[in-house]
Amino acid sequence: MEKQVRVRFAPSPTGYLHVGGLRTALYNFLFAKKHGGQFILRIEDTDQTRKVEGAVENLIDTLKWAGVEYDEGPNRDGGFGPYIQSQRLELYKRYAEQLIDSGKAYYCFCSPERLDEIRKKQTALKQTSSYDRHCRDLPVDEAKKRVAAGERHVIRMKVPLDGEMSFEDVIRGKVVISFNIIDDQVIIKSDGFPTYHLAVVVDDHLMGITHVIRGEEWLSSVPKHILLYRYFNWDLPVYVHLPLLLNPDKSKLSKRQGDVAVEDYRAKGYLKEAIVNFIAFLGWNPGDEREVFFMDQLIEEFSLERVSKSGAVFNVEKLNWLNQQHIKLKSSEELAQLVRPYLEKKGWTNVEEQYLQNVVNLMRERMVFPRDLAENGGYFFQDPESFDEAGIKKSWEPGSGERVKLFAERLTALDEFSHASIETALRKLSEELAVKPNKLIHPVRLAVSGKTGGPGLFEMMELLGKESVVRRLLYAVKKLQNM
Ligand code: GLU
Repeated sequence: MEKQVRVRFAPSPTGYLHVGGLRTALYNFLFAKKHGGQFILRIEDTDQTRKVEGAVENLIDTLKWAGVEYDEGPNRDGGFGPYIQSQRLELYKRYAEQLIDSGKAYYCFCSPERLDEIRKKQTALKQTSSYDRHCRDLPVDEAKKRVAAGERHVIRMKVPLDGEMSFEDVIRGKVVISFNIIDDQVIIKSDGFPTYHLAVVVDDHLMGITHVIRGEEWLSSVPKHILLYRYFNWDLPVYVHLPLLLNPDKSKLSKRQGDVAVEDYRAKGYLKEAIVNFIAFLGWNPGDEREVFFMDQLIEEFSLERVSKSGAVFNVEKLNWLNQQHIKLKSSEELAQLVRPYLEKKGWTNVEEQYLQNVVNLMRERMVFPRDLAENGGYFFQDPESFDEAGIKKSWEPGSGERVKLFAERLTALDEFSHASIETALRKLSEELAVKPNKLIHPVRLAVSGKTGGPGLFEMMELLGKESVVRRLLYAVKKLQNM
């Protein structure tokens, strides 16, 4: 029988969720869901110097917002907890001691000053800095006595002095790394906390992780981890290292060239559907032309085999395009709900729900962000106070005022105020006046909305209603008559 899939996202809480972190979380989540497995969130907070208040809560909140919810993790115990490494210190200590007893690790008493000294010498000789293994062969009994006496120490794992190791990565294939570039890694620090390498191996094993899916930057750590698995005599997980995320200029994705925190995109009004869709495509594609995907479809179609080796470019234009596509696909209720806060910020409170839904249906094609309606479609919520200068120059000519006034009269007389009847009235009037319809259409749009562009004019007028339209037309005539 196949083992049940168990995967994890194991972030170090830095205070925000990096887009690369969301990609790792998402791929793990998709893989777990696709195979009916478990997705685990584990907090790797063993570096006490990098602790940030509220970071874990923020991380959990952002994952939840994106719909990447974990089956097991903080506050959701699946029997493998605790899921926060700083609450598991005893475990790491116990396993480290086990390695000492089996001769696979050793106590090291070298002072930071001594290590610094070595480093300086190596730098002067242009050598890569590494620990000189000074304490590697200390007799264990003697070392234990020094530890018991309270001497400051770390625990290091023994790395073979030569030879190499190879392993299979699902994405990268066979990877070979020689031992002589690997230091005797510290696995327990002098503050009693484990380092990443020990904690990740112990936890992945104890939590029954079957596939380790994470960013490519961890690839070079794998040999250290595999050594630990061998020392403990544990089965290896399957390794999957995801391609790097790149800036459009192909450099490694960095803050310098744009936002990297998911929260920043969220705050800008990107839809979670667009973010998830976009992030899913950073290194994966379905193998055909389709680009707009919802979470359910991603779960159905995702496969590690289709994850590419080469770096994935983080292209904000693509994200904007996807945001637009997902806005188009929203129900009118949902879209109204998304734009309402922005209207309220502008003081348009109490906008009637059905009216708002009609407005968003008319405007959705022209929106990239939910805020766009408040910014470009204010005329749906209040009469325009001013009129686009260039528009006045271009379309308000001698005679426009007269024509618009006549049109307002025709509209007043209409029994039914529908886009069809408005259009008929306009075309009829233009015929009678022997002018092209545009001689009416452009000034009317300007008068009603203050702008030169927007949604279909007649639909817009129908939605605004007769009273409002006629009032606006007459106001514009008065205001612009001397132009
Ligand atoms: N704590 C590591 C990180 O911050 C996890 C790496 C791994 O997934 O093994 O990304």
